This record gives sequence, structure tokens and C-alpha cells, in this order.
Amino acid sequence: MNEIRCGSCRKLLMKSAERAIVGPVEVKCPRCGTLNNLRPLEPFSERPERQIPEKTCPGNSSSKTP
Ligand SMILES: [Zn+2]
Repeated sequence: MNEIRCGSCRKLLMKSAERAIVGPVEVKCPRCGTLNNLRPLEPFSERPERQIPEKTCPGNSSSKTP
């Protein structure tokens, strides 16, 4: 799930699946009133993270192991 946050105050606005947004979406932040424009195929994140395979070094990761 992707967390959709306000671009101004970082308030969590909604969560969506990867391809849940298929068209332009406008979300008005209830806290600061900023109108956030969401577009598909554009990750709503400041850090573009590529999908890195996690099979590189098992046991050497700080993430939780299922
Ligand atoms: Zn806001």
C-alpha cells in the first residue's frame, strides 16, 4: 500500500494500492487545506525507490523476516 500524504504538512491523507489510482485525483488536506493532485504512474514519494530484490543477503537485513 502506498501512503498518500499531504505535500505541505505531511498528514496522511489516504492509503492506496499500487495501481488503485488510474486517473487524476485531487485530495484536499483537512488540516492545512492544501489541494494535493495525485497522478497515476507517479509514486507519491520524495524518494524514488526502485524495487530491489531482497534475496541478496538473507540475515543481513534490518527488516522483519516473515
Ligand atoms: Zn496538509
